[in-house]
Amino acid sequence: MTDKIASELGDRPARQAPGSPLSSAAHPLPGSVRPGAIPVSGAASYPLSFDVSAPTAGTAEYLQDPSIRLLVDFFRNKGLAALKEEDRQEHWYQDWIDYQSRHGIYARLLSPKQYSSLGYRFDLTKLTRFLEVFAYFSPAHAYSLHVSFLGLCPILMSSNEALKEEAVAKLEAGGLFAFAVSERAHGSDLFANEFTVTRAGPAGWRAEGAKYYIGNANAACMISILAKQGDSESAGTTKRSPFVFFVLRPRETPAFQNVRKIRTLGIRPAFVGEFEVNDHTFRQSDILSQGRAAWDAVAGTVNLGKFFLGFGAVGICEHAFAEAFAHMRRRLLYGKPVTEMSHLRAATAIAFARLTAMKLYAYRALDYVQASSADERRYLLFNAVQKAKVSTEGVKVMGLLSECIGARGFEAVTYFESALRDAQLIPGLEGSTHINFGLTAQFIDTYFAISDRDGPPPAEVLHQEDADENPYSMAARDRNARTVRFTPCLRAYEPLQTLANVRAFMTQVEAFQLFVAGGVSTLNPDGDAGLLIAIGKCFSIIAYAQLIAENCLAVKVAPATVSVMFHALLEDLGTEALKLSAMFPVGSAERARLWDLVRVPETAAADLDFVSEFIAARYGDVGSARKGLS
Ligand SMILES: Cc1cc2nc3c(=O)[nH]c(=O)nc-3n(C[C@H](O)[C@H](O)[C@H](O)COP(=O)(O)OP(=O)(O)OC[C@H]3O[C@@H](n4cnc5c(N)ncnc54)[C@H](O)[C@@H]3O)c2cc1C
Repeated sequence: MTDKIASELGDRPARQAPGSPLSSAAHPLPGSVRPGAIPVSGAASYPLSFDVSAPTAGTAEYLQDPSIRLLVDFFRNKGLAALKEEDRQEHWYQDWIDYQSRHGIYARLLSPKQYSSLGYRFDLTKLTRFLEVFAYFSPAHAYSLHVSFLGLCPILMSSNEALKEEAVAKLEAGGLFAFAVSERAHGSDLFANEFTVTRAGPAGWRAEGAKYYIGNANAACMISILAKQGDSESAGTTKRSPFVFFVLRPRETPAFQNVRKIRTLGIRPAFVGEFEVNDHTFRQSDILSQGRAAWDAVAGTVNLGKFFLGFGAVGICEHAFAEAFAHMRRRLLYGKPVTEMSHLRAATAIAFARLTAMKLYAYRALDYVQASSADERRYLLFNAVQKAKVSTEGVKVMGLLSECIGARGFEAVTYFESALRDAQLIPGLEGSTHINFGLTAQFIDTYFAISDRDGPPPAEVLHQEDADENPYSMAARDRNARTVRFTPCLRAYEPLQTLANVRAFMTQVEAFQLFVAGGVSTLNPDGDAGLLIAIGKCFSIIAYAQLIAENCLAVKVAPATVSVMFHALLEDLGTEALKLSAMFPVGSAERARLWDLVRVPETAAADLDFVSEFIAARYGDVGSARKGLS
């Protein structure tokens, strides 16, 4: 193993028994670290393997968390064969629900300290790492936690103290939650929703309607339901009728009816369902929020939910990568491991670099969520980018790995086979990628507004477990893109500009900045959604790259790995710029400006070799991998 690779891996050996203590040699990251906090090491910032016979450096650090240890124990004991059988049979995982309830796992992760009777607290680093490892083992099981968060969030965002106390008590007793916003006929168009609540007497309400695509609908103890307030005479609603968020306890009302599982391509053992509520009367005390506050609760919940999904995409790809690589290094063709074929070696290195970039982005974006406040709202852009980019990068990584692994990846006994299905679900959840690419475009003018050295510094490098709760993340109301302040973005790349691919990317950013200099509304005077999304696709690659660059510095990623990551970013931005240019008339100034974004990467063969060696060292012994022996 070369010294450079060893330093990237951390000073611990690549093969390390799970549960062993964090090496004191794991380098802490620069920046401010809260007293008493546990800094996250560089080794844990790369893709991980939880394979008991070949864990990666950094895996032991994750296993220090008791919740993650419990999770890993459950899935290792259950075994992949049993999980795949449940997937085939679409069997609900009651054993897991009982296990998490017995150990208070969801309660540890989701209870805010103000309401917890067991001394838990809402720790975003613990939750996001848990979500990553959960998806590593089973995205279907992870969905029950994800949806419980979504169901709880509107309750915690409300001013209804009694419901908050009841919800956290139920969570601590092992209960699941659900978030019922979607309806069969209306998809993303929530203003068209028809589920109706009407006043029924001075202190009561009546609910009537149906919801569709609702996770945990079979098992939730409380469901947060978004309704429109109807007129008590006609019970009718219009697009302008105010929203009402209320809580329903399915086990306590006969009005909760016709629950049916909707069979889905991925996460098959999970329960995504539809249900009806017929003539349910309830008291004012079950109302969470109304009007603007109800809408803010939807937006705030989705804003965090879509951010969390990115960690699921990372976990899925980490497991798929580890499994694919283990197969490939044992697969001998023409007398050599297939990893020796130059095109597969390169594709594996690019897949690994893309996956590493996903993870570096997601955890750097977490810093911005942790740091968020009324004056620090950059997380609004970075959450949208996380949703749109990290989820779609996951699909790309799966595509690249699928090319490499070949037929084995389609065998039903592998994790890989279901990962191919599960990874594709993520881009569509919590607001589609279209919606989020469109959303990112709203930040373009302010992102490039600061041309001098003004503006806030990058978020302090938190990168730590044990970070305190940030009450702002549950209270955030201000989503105005035009008042968010950014740092001049090229600053993030300056320390890396000795690398040709980073320099080339910086020229792409400058070219894009020129392209949008007159303002997005000038480029898109008719507010065409397709054009806005295409502009957002280019811009989101730039915001994505900024946080990757920031985290590359924090984690001290080796230059060769950075170069391969920027190889992919250069290609992506050039490709999206060409697609965008085709939307403007032939001969137009816009087309000409966009051509300046097309750059050919200058990746040295040695860079790809370095990444390949790094992978081999991280996932097993270099020498034995070469001989296909291990
Ligand atoms: C497995 C799974 C689990 C789910 N769990 C839940 C849950 O627990 N609770 C819940 O409430 N919902 C849940 N949903 C619903 C999910 O959030 C929906 O996908 C969502 O309601 C959007 O509906 P739709 O996918 O039918 O797309 P549609 O809204 O019908 O969109 C169709 C197309 O139009 C595009 N589009 C729509 N609006 C815009 C826009 N403004 N700008 C640009 N393009 C746009 C979309 O990108 C898409 O390509 C779940 C869905 C699935 C598949």
